[in-house]
Formats: sequence, structure tokens, C-alpha cells
Amino acid sequence: MNDWDTIAAIATALGESSVGIVRISGPEAIRIVDKVFTGKKRLETVASHTVHYGHIRKFSTGDIIDEGLVLVMRSPRSYTAEDVVEVQCHGGIVAIRRVLETILEAGARLAEPGEFTKRAFLNGRIDLSQAEAVIDVIRAKTDTAMQVALKQVEGSLSQEIRLLRQKLIELLAHIEVTIDYPEHDVEDVTVRRVIQDGEVAIERIQRILHGARHGRILREGLKTVIVGQPNVGKSSLLNRLSRTERAIVTDIPGTTRDILEESVNIRGIPLTILDTAGIRETEDVVEKIGVERSREAIQDADLTVVVLDGSKPLSATDEDLLQIASKRMSIVIVNKADLGSAVSLDQIGQYMPVERIVHTSIKTGIGLENFEDLVEELFLGGQIEQKDATYATNVRHIALLEQAKTQLSEAVQSAQMGMTLDLVAVDVKNAWSTLGEVIGKEVGEDLLDQIFSQFCLGK
Ligand code: GDP
Ligand code: ZN
Repeated sequence: MNDWDTIAAIATALGESSVGIVRISGPEAIRIVDKVFTGKKRLETVASHTVHYGHIRKFSTGDIIDEGLVLVMRSPRSYTAEDVVEVQCHGGIVAIRRVLETILEAGARLAEPGEFTKRAFLNGRIDLSQAEAVIDVIRAKTDTAMQVALKQVEGSLSQEIRLLRQKLIELLAHIEVTIDYPEHDVEDVTVRRVIQDGEVAIERIQRILHGARHGRILREGLKTVIVGQPNVGKSSLLNRLSRTERAIVTDIPGTTRDILEESVNIRGIPLTILDTAGIRETEDVVEKIGVERSREAIQDADLTVVVLDGSKPLSATDEDLLQIASKRMSIVIVNKADLGSAVSLDQIGQYMPVERIVHTSIKTGIGLENFEDLVEELFLGGQIEQKDATYATNVRHIALLEQAKTQLSEAVQSAQMGMTLDLVAVDVKNAWSTLGEVIGKEVGEDLLDQIFSQFCLGK
């Protein structure tokens, strides 16, 4: 165990909850809290993992600041593997800051962002991919994203990577032995094994990377565009979705102010509705930006929603949009059902399978449920619930996995082309160490600092 000082920080999001937690970690954690907390017993005498009620006092004056609960977790059974004390008080910003202040006065140092998690990592409590997943937990926009992130904390990605590395080590051992005892028939066997095992490993990495796409969607939101002729109900749809789901309107830094993205949450799936088409700005998107611009937006999107006015016959523009959207993941909304139906389903059916067509009256709210059902069906499809799914949700992980895949392909190719086993071994070794970087086996201090500085304070 490393011998560090004792750190403290507010561990709950300010202003978001009714209970505030100050977390203290380090060799002096319990003694420091004892200096400012009066309960039935001195905390130094209590058992690990017990909760105590009492008063928190100002260190310098002894005045009572707040009452609260104190949770004591002794090393190594704590988040950081050090002695950890959590002080729960009445969450208001002022109260919790005062509690933190008195703890700092009593001898703790204010933690740097991510320092608790960094300690957990350096003390061997969690590996790097788990630590990074903690960042995702903090940032998770929805419950579903939270679950995936938590799963990573629990180590499903790490486990998969460890398994892969184990296999590569076995393969390397095999190659080394063959190099040391070069008999021709053994070499053939080894070459075949490199090709076989290499391909299996590539396949596994491929699967993780495939899951990564899903992971990105959960983190950044499903890029969604709404297209349709003027007056069909696009803005109304966006308003409905954002009003009922409490949209956050954000400016994207570094872009012009008029590009907005709106986050809405449908059944736990975050949708980022890109208003590049200016749904908010100009009321007649298609006329203003033309079918060509819609085409571009559709190309970039994960999901396209084509809105039609069902009370009117399909126009040529409607058909153009349907044609473009049919090549991508899309849903057709036939709106204004309350005004009767003039549009022919057969006609839409030429472009889009029936199960992707929803009838709505956005004005009255009819049919929106079905739209949400469909979004859920298309993008979750039960896959998220899959117990063994491994998601790489982190850009750094994805880049490393891609790299390892390339290195393995090179090993396989070298083997197929009859290169010497020494050369093959180098590629396998590289892939092994690249995979190690994902779980933090081979990282330098710089990278560590960079990763941990992304954390909120208190984690
Ligand atoms: P946009 O130009 O495609 O964004 O269309 P808007 O959302 O601005 O809607 C145009 C008009 O259609 C507005 O007056 C809406 O109130 C109306 N509208 C939208 N949805 C419906 C609907 O389901 N039924 C009826 N009757 N009117 C609707
Ligand atoms: Zn509009």
C-alpha cells in the first residue's frame, strides 16, 4: 500500500441531491473526522462499515455546523483501498461546503479531480478501464448508459481483454519454444496455430468494436434528423419530444450558434436531434435547404425520421425524401391523422417496410407511444440486456483495440506468407502489449494524469 496524505472532497453533485456527502480517504481519515465530529463513540473505536449519527463542528471554534451520518470503511475494504470516511449532511451548497472546510482545517487536503479513483487504481483496487468507466458513470446521460458504464466498472471489458492477452501469451510461448527447438514439422504446426488463434483473437476484438458503436450511441446520443416538407409537423414533433422529456438545448462549442443539438430521452435511449436542418430556425426546411441538404443530413445520421402530412397525397418531394431515407435506418411518421387520411400506404410501402411506418397526430399526442416503441425496438432490440455484452465506450479503448487488431492481422499475414517466426512473434507481442494498455498494464504517468484529471472532484 502506498503511503499518501489524506484527501477530501465533496462526492455528490452540488445542488442535485438532498443529501451531501464529503468523502475523506487516507491514513488519517478517521482521526481527522474524529476532530470535527461528535457522536456516541469516537470513530477510531468503531468497527468497519458502520454508520454513526452525530454533530459536525467547526474545527477552529467548536460550533456545531450540521448534524449528519458518518460512514467508516477501513482499509482495504473501501473504494480507494485506504481508510475512507464519508460524512453525509444536509446537502445544501452552503452546509456541505462548511463541512468540507472544517475537515480541511482539521488536516485533510482538498483532493484533485479524479484523485480518489486514481488511488483506487494505484492501490490495485480497479484497473484502468474500470477507472475510465467511472468517468462514463459520472457523465452517463440516461439510465441505460449508466448500466452499460456500470457493467464496465464491474469489469466485463477488462475480463475480455485479460482473456485475450492470456491466449496471446500462450501463443507466444508456443512460438518461442518452436524457435528454440527448430524442427520442421513443429514449425508447421506453430504457423497453423498462429493463423488459427490470431484469427480467433481478431474476431473477438471485432466483436468488442462492434459493441463500441452501440456504446458511442449510449454516450453521445443517437444522431437523429427529422426531415419533411414544410408544415408537416417537424417542429411540433421536436417540441413534443423535448417537452415531455425535458430537453437540454446545448450550443456545441466551436460551431456557429445557430447549430443546436437537442437531447431527448426515449425510453432510456438518448437521442441527439441535430437541428442542422434548422427546424427551429426556418419553418420550411425542404424549400430552404433543399432535398440535397437533407440527403447530407441523412447520410450523417444514425436515425432518420421522415415526417409526412397524412391528410394530403404524397408529393414528389415526399417521395424523394422517402427514397433517400429508405437506404438508412429510418422511421416514417404519417402525421395529422386527426385530419383524415389521404396518403396511400401502398405508396409509402414501396420505400419503407410497413413496420417502420407510424401514424400519428402530433397535435393531440396520438401515436407518439408507437413511435417511441419503434425507436426502442430498433435500437435496443433486446441487445442491451444481453448479459455477456462487452462494450468499449471509450475513444482511447477503441483506438487501442483497432491497433491490436491490425497487429494481429500482420502476425497472421506474416505466418501465411512464411515469414520467420521471430517476425511473427514481434507482431503478437505488440498486440499483447497494446491490449495491455487498455487495462493500464503499460501506461506511462502522463497518460494516467490525463485520464484522471477528467474526473469530477470527489470521485
Ligand atoms: P413543420 O413546418 O414541419 O415544422 O411543421 P410544424 O410543426 O410547424 O406544424 C405546422 C402546423 O401543423 C402547425 O400549425 C401545427 O400545429 C400543425 N400540426 C402539427 N401536427 C399536427 C397534427 O397532428 N394535426 C393537426 N391537425 N395539425 C398539426
Ligand atoms: Zn417547423
